[in-house]
Amino acid sequence: MLKTHNCGELRSHHVGQSVTLAGWVHRQRDHGGLIFLDLRDRWGIVQVVADTSHAPQAHAVAARARQEYVLQVRGTVCARPTERVNPRLETGEIEVLADEIVVLNPAKTPPFPIFEDTPVDETLRLKYRYLDLRRQRMQRNLILRHRVVKYIRDFLDARGFLEIETPILFKSTPEGARDYLVPSRLHPGKFYALPQSPQQLKQLLMVAGFERYFQIARCFRDEDLRGDRQPEFTQLDLEMSFVTREDIMALIEELMIGIVEECSDCRLVTRPFPRLSYAEAMARYGTDKPDLRFGMELVDISDLVTRSGYGIFAQAVAAGGQVKGIRAPGCAGYSRRQIDELTLLAQKKGAGGVAWLALGAEGEVRSSFARFLTADQVQAIIARMEAQPGDLLLFVADRPPVVATALSELRLELGQHLGLRDPKAMAFCWVIDFPLFEWNEEEQRWDPSHHLFTAPMPEDLPLLDTDPGAARGQQYDLVCNGEEIAGGSIRIHRREIQEKIFGLIGLNVEQARERFGHMLEAFEYGTPPHGGIASGIDRVVMLLAGEESIREVMAFPKTGQAVDLMVNAPSPVDPEQLAELHIRVVEEKQAITGRNA
Ligand code: ASP
Repeated sequence: MLKTHNCGELRSHHVGQSVTLAGWVHRQRDHGGLIFLDLRDRWGIVQVVADTSHAPQAHAVAARARQEYVLQVRGTVCARPTERVNPRLETGEIEVLADEIVVLNPAKTPPFPIFEDTPVDETLRLKYRYLDLRRQRMQRNLILRHRVVKYIRDFLDARGFLEIETPILFKSTPEGARDYLVPSRLHPGKFYALPQSPQQLKQLLMVAGFERYFQIARCFRDEDLRGDRQPEFTQLDLEMSFVTREDIMALIEELMIGIVEECSDCRLVTRPFPRLSYAEAMARYGTDKPDLRFGMELVDISDLVTRSGYGIFAQAVAAGGQVKGIRAPGCAGYSRRQIDELTLLAQKKGAGGVAWLALGAEGEVRSSFARFLTADQVQAIIARMEAQPGDLLLFVADRPPVVATALSELRLELGQHLGLRDPKAMAFCWVIDFPLFEWNEEEQRWDPSHHLFTAPMPEDLPLLDTDPGAARGQQYDLVCNGEEIAGGSIRIHRREIQEKIFGLIGLNVEQARERFGHMLEAFEYGTPPHGGIASGIDRVVMLLAGEESIREVMAFPKTGQAVDLMVNAPSPVDPEQLAELHIRVVEEKQAITGRNA
């Protein structure tokens, strides 16, 4: 090794020892005869002193050293004089008096400072990701990520799970996103698909008798990258045989509690994890990914306003819709402009508008709609909403899905504004009893709401013939702080049920055999009842790190446009390469004409 110690590990008990260090110049401060260098490596920062009266050569090199130069320093650990002790630095009680300094490599001035965590334009960060990753925040995040993954591996290993790798060059998988395709050179005109998840393979591993499988698996989904998504991401993928959903949920709950407690400084606010049915989550929070760090639940007042003089309320209910509201504690003083901003948010989610009522300190009412109602009706609403003096009530009247999304958005916004979304608080919950299918209006068929291997609830099996929309799946989602961080299900393990599901989602026998024949066939060779789950590692680490984007916990992420700015991918390839792959690229214009023709 070119070093005997790491910069960050030196403490008072090293005083007197001679050490050799190697690392980067974090900062340099030239005080004439004395030059101070903060030398940084992965383990931290230590102060190096180059004293011209002690070692003129070392002093001369230190004078030339600039930000991010790579140095090797030989010297002696000394206690810092009292006035130089730095309690904010772990190595702050000592410094290294340099005997000799060697420049292992000079460095150009970096495009942004490494030594401070000031905001830097993300495009620049991603272009120079290797420099961005040198910064403390990113080092911290990737170290955390390593810890989480190691915790998962140890936890599952101790419980008899085997980590088994599955192929990246594979066939179309059924998660419902678009596939990334890889052309085959050896088989002209044929393609592999990158797995959207190892779903089929992990089920086949259950058929193969492994009983407990997991993998830290890379998944690829070519989606329009709305929100915080990445074309490739990592999930903890897991499958077990001879289990019920309770077994999987208990295992994952214990794992998540362990991760939070052992790997982070966050605290659990819900334990055991509460369980909500999908219907309940939608009714109380307007979303199947509720943020349970705070209350502010949706309250239905439809029955109170059916016959009210306020047309917007009455008509919404008459048309089969509903009127629901939320209570923002202490927000009665919101200005018209603030309420207009909230209205705009709701309108972006499809609502026509927002009706509001502010209850003053003395109980006086200011409202956009109260004058159309009787005093009794207004009081009934205030009572139903459990409003206190000083509260602001916001209402949306519309079709249930619109009411849900608009109020859910307002709830999150107000929760943020009121400081109720503490990043150090982890509020987990399970959402269960999802509908098995969603109706696809465009294609006039049922789509699986999870994926097509999810088993129906046993008691709902007959509904597959009579009322598929009412059938619930044996599915479970784990939600934390409003983010879905895991999802899974008990699987179908009998061929006739699987075939029935294929039928309902509009796959005929031919298509089903072409795409999933291997699964149907496998199901005939003694398939154990099984189920599993997958958890997005990026998202879990993001929450634990208190970050707002999964890009902050990935070493080399892509932009929102799926571009790697560092290496400039995707990029054109040589015509010879394309020819070998039997591929001809047509100009976009041509392609469109081709499609129209
Ligand atoms: N394969 C599923 C997914 O990635 C998870 C599972 O059902 O285990 O969403």
